[in-house]
Amino acid sequence: MGVLAAGVGLVALSNPAHAAGDVYKGTGWRILNGRGIESLSPDPYVIHIVKPSTSATKLSAAKNKAAEAQLRAQLKKTAAQLTSITGTKFTLASGYHKEQKDCSTAERHVITVGLKYRPFTPGNKPGYSQAHPCSATANQSAWGGWIWVDSEYWIPGDWAASPARVSNMMSHEIGHSIGLDHANVDGPDANHTADPYECVSNSSKDLPLMCSPNGGHGRAKGGSETRVKKYAGQYTKWDIAGLKALKANFSR
Ligand SMILES: [Zn+2]
Repeated sequence: MGVLAAGVGLVALSNPAHAAGDVYKGTGWRILNGRGIESLSPDPYVIHIVKPSTSATKLSAAKNKAAEAQLRAQLKKTAAQLTSITGTKFTLASGYHKEQKDCSTAERHVITVGLKYRPFTPGNKPGYSQAHPCSATANQSAWGGWIWVDSEYWIPGDWAASPARVSNMMSHEIGHSIGLDHANVDGPDANHTADPYECVSNSSKDLPLMCSPNGGHGRAKGGSETRVKKYAGQYTKWDIAGLKALKANFSR
């Protein structure tokens, strides 16, 4: 099983103002304030799919279609969970949207999700997807942005991914796109580095979905695959605390 992951794209920054009272981290979560996002707006956000092309994904037309259907099904659930957690309305649009590629031209509160073969920049890292979050220059709230999902998850080989892993990846990247950072911390090994998969956990072997390179329910060492499948794509209590903090920061 390959790593399903998630780096965070660069965000153009201009001396973000820090609101007094904002909270940027807690147990198992962290906000992307280092990249200029400090809060989630109460105004609705809409997730859109970019039409996959066989040349960009290296998948057959039939596989593109299957991958897109899988992402849409998860994004609908992710949007519903985000709406319920934050009180800000998230929806998945039908149809297709043009690519977004620059925060200066990205549409407000639009998050596009597309498929590409090895989209991670720099380096086109195999198995990595990537979110590119933008921030509102006026108040440092999440503006929207774009996500590229690695089409290798649908290609037999090292990076092929189960439906549960794809679901976790999708919610992880959406988390980045609205202002959640990786939740890694220097833990048990106390080597002064927040290593891959080094995140808070519990007796159910959960990791924050925002753990890098990927986490989720039952995803810590020794976790059960039944639990992974049961809660595929769902934010954990730690991610939920981070999402609620993002929303609360908007008005504090
Ligand atoms: Zn990530």
